Amino acid sequence: MGKGRKIGIIFVLVALLPALFYSAYEVSSLSSTEELIQSIYSKQLDVILFSINQYALDVAQSWSGEVNTLLITSQPSRVDSATRIFLNKRTAVRGVFYTDSTGHSLSFVTRQKKEKTRGDEDISVSSLQNQSATIEKLLHYASSGYRKIEPVIIGDSVSGQGLMLMFVTSSRFPEQKIAGFVIDANSFVTEVLQAKIAQAAGEEFLLAVFDRRNQHIILSTSPVEITELREVKDLWLFPGYSIGIRLRGTSVEDVVRARSERNLILIGVLDILLIGAVWLVYRTLKKEMELVRLKGDFVSNVSHELRTPLSLIRMFTETLSMKRVQTEEKKQEYYDTILHETERLTRLINNILNFSRMEAGKKQYHVESMALNEVVTGVLKTYTSHLEHEGFTASVQLAENIPDIHADREAIAEALINILDNAVKYSAADKYVRIKTGQTDNTIYVEVEDHGIGIDKHHHKKIFETFYRVSTGLTNNIKGSGLGLSLVSHIMNAHGGMIELESEPGKGSIFRLLFPIVNRSDSTHKG
Ligand code: ADP
Repeated sequence: MGKGRKIGIIFVLVALLPALFYSAYEVSSLSSTEELIQSIYSKQLDVILFSINQYALDVAQSWSGEVNTLLITSQPSRVDSATRIFLNKRTAVRGVFYTDSTGHSLSFVTRQKKEKTRGDEDISVSSLQNQSATIEKLLHYASSGYRKIEPVIIGDSVSGQGLMLMFVTSSRFPEQKIAGFVIDANSFVTEVLQAKIAQAAGEEFLLAVFDRRNQHIILSTSPVEITELREVKDLWLFPGYSIGIRLRGTSVEDVVRARSERNLILIGVLDILLIGAVWLVYRTLKKEMELVRLKGDFVSNVSHELRTPLSLIRMFTETLSMKRVQTEEKKQEYYDTILHETERLTRLINNILNFSRMEAGKKQYHVESMALNEVVTGVLKTYTSHLEHEGFTASVQLAENIPDIHADREAIAEALINILDNAVKYSAADKYVRIKTGQTDNTIYVEVEDHGIGIDKHHHKKIFETFYRVSTGLTNNIKGSGLGLSLVSHIMNAHGGMIELESEPGKGSIFRLLFPIVNRSDSTHKG
């Protein structure tokens, strides 16, 4: 496994994973907090609904108590008038009926003496007989001293307007009676429950009573849609009626949800920042490690680069000084080799010195107006012998009438030599270089073409980085420092110029140095 990958994994394990785990924990605890708040809230709503139900039941109980009392205590002839007094106080009650325990001899008392009962409130012997099971139940409760009330829908059950609350009178009465009221459910809600509901709602809540069957709201403390109610319970006393509740304005859920969402977004952003930071640190570290590796290679490469020419120079000088060389021709060859090796050493040392100057930011350029062709010719003057010595064919094409450039003569020469050096180093059998100058719309350029091993696109950018060397395939045995092109790149940047590279493996390379045309009115120079 590569060192970079190892570091990446360590990073993920040490920094990222705990943070992500923590985020996951936070997210889950957020939702459980939300659930907790929701359940507390639901319970609170339940309690309110329960208290209203209980209140409605209490009211009905107390009414049945009153009717019970008047049925027990009044003279038979005064029962009706006593009942009417009761009815006048209770406008939600339409009428009171009572009968003997057999359900016969039914009396139905309404508010007005001779009021005709409406169809839906009609209490008949037969309608009571239909309720025999209910009556049975009531009698059973009554025998254990508990006066229970049973709601029975009468008449039009869809509108639910008529509702009978049935109970049996207490057993102290010589003849136990079945009694009850016919109640107008809507009036009961709007007249009797209204105050209690308003009080329960207070400032915080919104309460509404509605008919489940037709989804009609009978009473609400503020305008509301049934679907907006948070908690809904049946109204015990009135089958078909429900009572619902929610918070006024923003609900607890909204508050909790908004809070959770905010926290989630925050956690998300933090995670993204963290991942970004880890990735950045990882990348920087990887780059640093790569640089450390490249520097290590550089030291061994340079040592080799220094040693080779030195040992050659030493060997040939020794041979010459011992006068072992017989022919003048051979002597000349040895002198040439010594000269070339010295030049090679000089170039390498120049590169290293320039590099350290650039690293320290101490490299200074002496810019002057000059003809690029002159610089090229100057370089070729000293370099041609090296090219010939290495067996290269050189072709030179200098464009005429191109504008001068503003540059540091020595630096440009050095850049060109580095590119020529590479052309020589990275060529195999086809030893050919072409040096060409020219002009485009807004640049002056010099390019060096070789028929060498070429460079894969993947490396085109990286070879200009310090110490970077292509370390695969054919380049494996070619020694170098990895400084040359980074120096060229530095020099071109300092001149406001660019480097273009056209190269493919096996097809040779073209390195093109482009200089900006600073001032078109500049004097042109014949090439
Ligand atoms: P080096 O000292 O290794 O030559 P450079 O910075 O001059 O360092 O070049 C970087 C790398 O670019 C080289 O190691 C080589 O792989 C590649 N390179 C440069 N010039 C050429 C060329 N003309 N043909 C093929 N490869 C080249």
